[in-house]
Amino acid sequence: MHIVVLAGGIGGARFLQGLLRHLDAAHPGSEVTVVGNTADDVTLFGLRVCPDLDTVMYTLGGGIDAERGWGREDETFRARDELAAYGAPQAWFGLGDRDLATHLVRTQMLAAGYPLSAVTEALCARWQPGVRLLPMSDDRVETHVVVEDAQTGQRQALHFQEYWVRHHAEPRAVDVLAVGAEDAEPGPGVLDAVAAADAVLLAPSNPVVSVGTILAVPGIRDALEGAAAPVVGLSPLVGGAPVRGMADKVLAAVGVESSSAALAAHYGPDLLDGWLVDERDAADVPGVEAAGIRCRAVPLLMTDPGATARMAADALALAEPARA
Ligand code: GDP
Ligand code: CA
Repeated sequence: MHIVVLAGGIGGARFLQGLLRHLDAAHPGSEVTVVGNTADDVTLFGLRVCPDLDTVMYTLGGGIDAERGWGREDETFRARDELAAYGAPQAWFGLGDRDLATHLVRTQMLAAGYPLSAVTEALCARWQPGVRLLPMSDDRVETHVVVEDAQTGQRQALHFQEYWVRHHAEPRAVDVLAVGAEDAEPGPGVLDAVAAADAVLLAPSNPVVSVGTILAVPGIRDALEGAAAPVVGLSPLVGGAPVRGMADKVLAAVGVESSSAALAAHYGPDLLDGWLVDERDAADVPGVEAAGIRCRAVPLLMTDPGATARMAADALALAEPARA
């Protein structure tokens, strides 16, 4: 089987671990292509940082700090502490010492003229993630969050990392923009992979700033809607709330209620053939099915690789009842 997965960072990477485990057992020889979110990418101290691509690469390559869910295992932050001691701006971002090597190699290759897709392939040659990891685009797309000052009503656009990491999603978000998306092209291989897929899965990643930004690249949503393969998504909400993180804040900013049913409607029946919600949200199933999307309630907590593998199996069963 050839499976394409749209993925952000932690939620995407953990799901992919489970998917690979399931495929190893049930469909050996399968291929997985990951379309990774690059709209969180940021330049810090001149270094190009791609948090979501790296989270997928480190997680599947065995280099992740499993407890944090991002960055390298056995990490230290001495360079960052030195930067903070200089009073350098941007020292709020968790740039680890081991992690820095990745950003140095990436930045050097980009400066030499390689596109991000080629750089990512080169980095993956070390990590051997067991998937083909494709940036959603080689063009720059950047999520900006429009925040509003409660007192003055004044609005300001912040880079996603500044909003999320520096300000912990505390300022009131009133809009989310994928800056540059309209002029971006899908990364090399993305549309071909979708066309050749047996199933396309939307990982339980942030629907606005991970999956949403991938779908904002012109051509990707159309390819999914027109694909011969079924498209099945897994809700990142359990009991109507994000499992970790602050996805509800950015959902509210784009006017989507924090429920698995509302997410299915947000993606829409033209995109989704199937949608998995957590068993706690079983009450959402009839409404989703009434909208023309096959829907099942199953356990959706990625507590361990076995549980996550069962989620992947459930998603593939919903994609192709005959095959799974
Ligand atoms: P990020 O880029 O690192 O923020 O990661 P993603 O966008 O890939 O995933 C973030 C989403 O993963 C959040 O909205 C969480 O609700 C979701 N998530 C995290 N753990 C779980 C889990 O165990 N089950 C489900 N269904 N969603 C999860
Ligand atoms: Ca992310």
